[in-house]
Amino acid sequence: MSSLILILGDQLNKSISSLKQANKAEDIVLMCEVRAEAKYVKHHKKKLVFVLSAMRHFHQELKFSGYNVTYVKLNDKSNSGSLESEIQRIANDNNINNITVTHPGEYRVYKNINTLSSKNLNINWLEDDRYFCSRDEFRKWVDKKTQLRMENFYRYMRQKYNILMDGNEPVGNKWNYDKENRKPLKNEIISSRPKIFKPDAITNEVIELIESEFNENFGDILPFELAVTRKQALAALNHFIKERLVQFGDYQDAMLEKEPYMYHSLLSFYLNIGLLLPAEVISKAEKTYQNGHAPINAVEGFIRQILGWREFIHGIYWHKMPNYSTKNFFNAENDLPDFFWDGDTKLNCLSQCIQETKKNAYAHHIQRLMILGNFCLLTGIEPKKVCEWYLIVYADAFEWVELPNVMGMILFADGGYLASKPYASGGAYINKMSNYCKSCHFKIKEKTGEQACPFNYLYWNFLHQHQDKLSNNQRLSMMYSTLKKMDSEKLTLIRSSAENFIKSI
Ligand code: FAD
Ligand code: SF4
Repeated sequence: MSSLILILGDQLNKSISSLKQANKAEDIVLMCEVRAEAKYVKHHKKKLVFVLSAMRHFHQELKFSGYNVTYVKLNDKSNSGSLESEIQRIANDNNINNITVTHPGEYRVYKNINTLSSKNLNINWLEDDRYFCSRDEFRKWVDKKTQLRMENFYRYMRQKYNILMDGNEPVGNKWNYDKENRKPLKNEIISSRPKIFKPDAITNEVIELIESEFNENFGDILPFELAVTRKQALAALNHFIKERLVQFGDYQDAMLEKEPYMYHSLLSFYLNIGLLLPAEVISKAEKTYQNGHAPINAVEGFIRQILGWREFIHGIYWHKMPNYSTKNFFNAENDLPDFFWDGDTKLNCLSQCIQETKKNAYAHHIQRLMILGNFCLLTGIEPKKVCEWYLIVYADAFEWVELPNVMGMILFADGGYLASKPYASGGAYINKMSNYCKSCHFKIKEKTGEQACPFNYLYWNFLHQHQDKLSNNQRLSMMYSTLKKMDSEKLTLIRSSAENFIKSI
């Protein structure tokens, strides 16, 4: 009996579990571009071009490999606009009752496709085995824990998969080289840039489509330099491993004006849509260490992000959805400032990160966490609005990875389930790790008043405002003892500076 094998836009790999089961002679592979997905938030234009172009290229690859593929383009006359209705239409046209699909990454997509099970279609859900940890295994690992710690999960994964291990011990006798990932990079020059790719005819056609139909969306479409095929993504991976991994470790947390990429890998785009597999990326990095071509702090730091954070975030999303999206521990309800859309603000750090986001559909982790995220936390912006922004603006943004990073990591909206303390900081951290403050309108050393760096007073105001919820947190005890000792006049100034600033945005 033939099956309809659905390939979603983030499942673009020939080793995906649904294709492994395919019978090329009988089954039909279905790929569709649908408006419901292109429009459920107003995605960055570059993100739309990236996903649609990669889908169209993957379609060609599948056809070339002998699959019988039905590909529905966004503007095809018969395209009914949603995944569910397209599956139903193509299944009806071909007299097929069985749908095979690798489990979607996002809850919304799963829910939509699952509506078909009440319409005489049998859905055969397959595990997405690109992840090291399945949703079930993660649930078992969580067991009765009330707080989760990434480090414990990461060690479990390292042992289970024997990655960077020397018998039962971690290589170098240390699990984590986090402290050696925090060098600032103030004046040095970045010695190697990420690999870039020229758009081909398929990509140019998609660029035209997005320019004409999604012109109101956020972000710059050009230059478009992302990889859109597996071959290109592998070239991007090899370039990173050869040219940039060595410095990744030292400068993982550093930020510089006009250097949007630093030594980051820019591989999240490709990992998230299937052009690269996490296992092959980790294996390449590990071999580079074993061959003596990259130091342990770089390789361990990089592997920790993928085997640790990425898998942990994925596990939490599926363990906690759908309720996770409604969390709001601090009852934050402010609006996102308008300058989040154009970077037109006197806070230089924010202006740099937002303008780079608009241009590249990318910001590296520390920008997302300690500049943009920190600001949203300290100014009490409503979690739903923050989530929507992050989902729109980055080309690697899919809800399974965006939501826990926003809710749990930057906003502490889950009350500490994912992170042991809020990632909040004043301006001193930003000044230490970047050169943004040098050319800022505000004065980093001033703590209150019109000229003072807003992060300085916002930070203390945040701790004061939420002391009922945070003062018992062991990891904040030093901060709360400093706050306790603060004289009331200074505290009043801090609070009024923060109040005025938040009103002004
Ligand atoms: P590198 O710094 O080179 O890291 C290597 C890889 O590790 C990344 O490609 C990524 O796959 C993985 N990784 C690192 N940190 C994380 C993390 N916290 N969670 C999951 N994977 C991680 N990542 C996304 O892929 N999509 C998102 O929508 C997304 N939203 C984020 C929102 C916020 C508020 C924050 C703080 C982080 C978010 N991240 C997201 C995680 C991280 O910032 C990006 O994965 C990273 O910046 C991508 O750039 P890179 O490939 O150069 O990463
Ligand atoms: Fe950002 Fe404050 Fe530095 Fe300005 S002074 S760049 S606002 S941290």
